[in-house]
Amino acid sequence: MSDTTAELEALLTQRSLTDPQLLAEAEKAADFRVLPDATVIKIGGQSVIDRGRAAVYPLVDEIVAVRNTHKLLIGTGAGTRARHLYSIAARLGLPAGVLSQLGASVADQNAVMLGTLLAKHGISAVDRAGLSAVPLYLAEVNAVVFSGMPPYSMWMRPAAEGVIPPYRTDAGCFLVAEQFGCKAMIFVKDENGLYTANPKTAKDATLIPRISVDEMLARGLEDSILEFPMLGLLKAARHVREVQVVNGLVPGNLTRALAGEHVGTIITAR
Ligand code: ADP
Ligand code: MG
Repeated sequence: MSDTTAELEALLTQRSLTDPQLLAEAEKAADFRVLPDATVIKIGGQSVIDRGRAAVYPLVDEIVAVRNTHKLLIGTGAGTRARHLYSIAARLGLPAGVLSQLGASVADQNAVMLGTLLAKHGISAVDRAGLSAVPLYLAEVNAVVFSGMPPYSMWMRPAAEGVIPPYRTDAGCFLVAEQFGCKAMIFVKDENGLYTANPKTAKDATLIPRISVDEMLARGLEDSILEFPMLGLLKAARHVREVQVVNGLVPGNLTRALAGEHVGTIITAR
């Protein structure tokens, strides 16, 4: 390969930062995976943690067993308390950036609880998953807990409509997996996967074992089991080109998904 740094540098001084030739030059280097052996799992807030002991204790046991063979970055969702906060804050006329901070505080609470349950197994919760000691935790104990909300805070990009922060913990956990070039991303929720309609309200809904982002959009499922900006993030991903959504209320599902089995819905970038 030629020394593309000089060419790129020249383009960067002369062109707009969205110039096609500049972008192509910036793409030339091979992608680098920061944590290629790790898998990110997101433990749902509303779907799992809010159910308390019955849902959380079996998952804790599964995490403790499975980290002997897998490296895990464990992100937490926010859930019902966040929704309560959003309703109060929205009525007060507060902006998405404030709601984002409120949601983050709930994901933090869940990380504190999960981290405390895992503490005696040597697994810690970290304040920010943006690297720092994360590789050390993974090397030493194969697992670390983090708060799943992306730290956009006041700089949260508002949705086209309303003040609910569009990038919440599904997106936050996925971005960690993608930017670190992780092996896989598993969403642990309370349904067997994606259905043709919300199974909580549509009793005739059927399970879709595998689907692409474009098919989800075509079927109007973009805002269903995953937050809608997730689809754009997945479609544009370089490393994590599919995610699996599994039912964490079924013991063994997480372990099987980590082993590469298809136990829920696999959503593919293409
Ligand atoms: P989390 O707490 O992990 O963020 P959510 O509660 O936000 O999880 O999302 C999972 C929920 O999405 C499910 O419990 C289900 O009620 C709902 N849902 C809506 N549409 C669908 C669908 N088409 N298929 C499956 N689940 C759906
Ligand atoms: Mg959610």
